[in-house]
Amino acid sequence: MVDIGLNRKRRIKNSLFIVFLIFVLLTVRIGWIQFVQGSQLQTMAYMQQTMDRSINPKRGTIYDATGKTILAVSATVETVTINPTNISKENKEKVATALSNIFELDYETVLKKVQKHTSIETIIKKVEKEKTDELREWMETNQITIGINIDEDTKRYYPYNNLASHVIGFCGVDNQGLDGIEVTYDEILKGTKGKIAKISDGTGGTLLDEEERYTPAVDGKDIVLSINMSAQAIVEKYLKQACIDNKCTDGGNVIVMNPKTGDILAMATYPDYNLNEPYEPNTNELKQIWETLSSGEKTSKLQQMWRNKAIADSYEPGSTFKLLTASAALEEGITTTDKKGEFSCTGGIEVAGVRIRCWRYYRPHGSQSLREALMNSCNPVFIGLRSKNRKRKIL
Ligand SMILES: [Zn+2]
Repeated sequence: MVDIGLNRKRRIKNSLFIVFLIFVLLTVRIGWIQFVQGSQLQTMAYMQQTMDRSINPKRGTIYDATGKTILAVSATVETVTINPTNISKENKEKVATALSNIFELDYETVLKKVQKHTSIETIIKKVEKEKTDELREWMETNQITIGINIDEDTKRYYPYNNLASHVIGFCGVDNQGLDGIEVTYDEILKGTKGKIAKISDGTGGTLLDEEERYTPAVDGKDIVLSINMSAQAIVEKYLKQACIDNKCTDGGNVIVMNPKTGDILAMATYPDYNLNEPYEPNTNELKQIWETLSSGEKTSKLQQMWRNKAIADSYEPGSTFKLLTASAALEEGITTTDKKGEFSCTGGIEVAGVRIRCWRYYRPHGSQSLREALMNSCNPVFIGLRSKNRKRKIL
């Protein structure tokens, strides 16, 4: 009797210990799920239960200084997405056939998307309305209304193609600015995305009592540049001509500034490129070798093509300041424009113990007037003018 009692006691004790151990393990597991995996699981559940589609805002327009000429504008297009789990099994192949036919896409790729177990897949971005109208008609005749979404989107369009290309820049597929004004003022131009939220059950089916919640997009703001398109067109025309006439293999730049305000009225870089096709090579030379290039080489060629050399490259102003020295000297009356043999170039001049050479030191310019010195861009003459000027001031 006593033995049996002891045995039972021990068994109860053991059972209690096992139950206790199970509780401890469960508590640890709950803690793990709650605190360690919690946020990740929450995100996954949210992704599974909501089928958000974003609505792209209309990107702001870019105008020239007149406020009338449009340099960059967003046109309305449409984006097609599907909710694979909402398309019934017997319709999957039919839907894939229709989508691939209408939008000229690869059937196998589309079918794979249609058969996925995800809540949303993008079929095609930024298509013209006539294409999506075809899809709408097909959906109506085949009575397939859920699982295929057609949402408004925008596409960037540049009415003047190559004009001011390096200043304006361009956008990527998601309407994000990638270069020029488009990237510098992206925050102002881009606006805020809107959203269509739908709550679904674990299998991706729509919960009937839940409506679509619609948050409208906020359009981006417009920008008016100081660039005047008439001035820009003239500058580009003559820059191109000058580059061709003088065989400038590296191209050239021109900046036109209003000296009173600092406004940039025109900024041109040659060769330019078409903003509506920013990934196409821009010169015949480049077009010929394009297909032979590796993708890395293509990227570096494109970056070179997009580069706004007028502001991205450094340039020593040097000789352009000879104009200022000459003007000051003329204003002070210490020289005249055409006095023959007024200056003499011996290939260099000594300033504070350092000899500064003329660019044509190997065959000095010899005797010149101020006009000739300007034409020759002769360094010693202008260094001499400055010291002559200073001497006058000191005396
Ligand atoms: Zn010289």
